[in-house]
Amino acid sequence: MRIEQDAAERERLARDRSSFRVLPAAVAFPRDAPEVAEALGWARERGLAVTARAGGSSVAGQCLGEGLVLDTSGLDGIEPDGEAVWCGAGVGLDELNAALEPHGRMLGPDTTSSEWARVGGIVATNACGSRSLRYGRVGEVVQALEGVDAAGAPLALEAGELPQALVAGLGTVLEGLEQDLAAGWPAIHRGFGGYRLDAFARERDALSLVPGSEGTLCLLTRARLATVPLPQRRDLSRAEFPTLRAALDVAPACVATGASAVEVLDTHLTGGDPVLLVEHLDEPDGPGRLPAVFELLAPGDAERAWRMRHDALVHLAAAGREPVALFEDPAVAAEQAGPFCDELLALLGSRGLDAVVYGHAGAGCLHVRPLVDPRAPGLARTLMDAQRAVADLVA
Ligand SMILES: Cc1cc2nc3c(=O)[nH]c(=O)nc-3n(C[C@H](O)[C@H](O)[C@H](O)COP(=O)(O)OP(=O)(O)OC[C@H]3O[C@@H](n4cnc5c(N)ncnc54)[C@H](O)[C@@H]3O)c2cc1C
Repeated sequence: MRIEQDAAERERLARDRSSFRVLPAAVAFPRDAPEVAEALGWARERGLAVTARAGGSSVAGQCLGEGLVLDTSGLDGIEPDGEAVWCGAGVGLDELNAALEPHGRMLGPDTTSSEWARVGGIVATNACGSRSLRYGRVGEVVQALEGVDAAGAPLALEAGELPQALVAGLGTVLEGLEQDLAAGWPAIHRGFGGYRLDAFARERDALSLVPGSEGTLCLLTRARLATVPLPQRRDLSRAEFPTLRAALDVAPACVATGASAVEVLDTHLTGGDPVLLVEHLDEPDGPGRLPAVFELLAPGDAERAWRMRHDALVHLAAAGREPVALFEDPAVAAEQAGPFCDELLALLGSRGLDAVVYGHAGAGCLHVRPLVDPRAPGLARTLMDAQRAVADLVA
């Protein structure tokens, strides 16, 4: 297996899509599970921590590490299997969907970063996309996983199973878990990143814990994922609102029409009033159930509007502004998104920060990027302070 310590390879994997740069000591390029185990052994002998990297599209530095970074893009292979697919952890999401298309299928969760993101990354982060209202998160479509544990032993996890070696440890975690979750686990659509303790408490299997665990429990090599039929019909409706708050307040009513996506774009992105885009998939009556202010877009306009949402930040960059990825996905109940956003913008405004807001209004999950002058004195301190305040606001 190839392990590199030369400066160029290390530098290439020192960044993701965040502002961070962490130079690894070495990078490895495994092509199968035994090579992953070999890489872990190599790192263990040298006392190096191991970080997995899939597509490198994380926005918080999660795939960066000072020790050995495992470039998993060589873990390939796609085997469609009825209403599911077995795929290597290094398979790209766009590549996977292209392979499924001739079978009339696709992966439901539609991470916007599909051109970079790979299977290991979307499973490890329990990713989802604009259509999470319809298709949920990746953790909900994982049927089986294969990987390698910290000791380098192969691991195969199936739904409903708790491997004997894990019974004692995970049994302790399960004790009293349901009561603890009932006391403090928020019942919101986008919920938490991190360990899916709610799914674990319900299913009582090891498989439920891996999506969202970001490489802390095992290194994934293959996944069996449920697929969905390709939609046959797609309608996109659009409405403008005088304020961002007005748009966000209407979003829950749009969700109730059976929408697959309810997305918001603020004035920074539209150049005019804030806009809601509402998509219905295979729901011909859906657009008619929307408030009268919505207009059903003709196919060409729909394509342009959706592309505008998909490439939101590209448009901002073209306008010469610098949006900082700082708190990408603050999530609240959709009904709370309007008041939450007002408070958040006031909080930023009191620190002299303007921000662009867009994202998944129907899921209560907003992308909020402060627009900054990178040369402004004291900027890092201001942003750190704002980040803590936003975290408190979400809590
Ligand atoms: C423009 C843009 C749009 C985005 N849109 C979305 C979106 O719509 N929805 C969303 O959820 N996220 C989104 N993201 C964030 C990011 O793309 C997702 O988190 C994605 O799932 C990461 O996949 P990746 O393959 O790039 O993983 P990486 O960034 O390489 O890694 C992500 C995490 O997974 C771990 N990991 C990777 N491979 C393995 C493995 N084989 N075994 C164990 N752990 C592993 C890494 O250690 C790291 O912790 C977006 C990012 C950008 C830049």
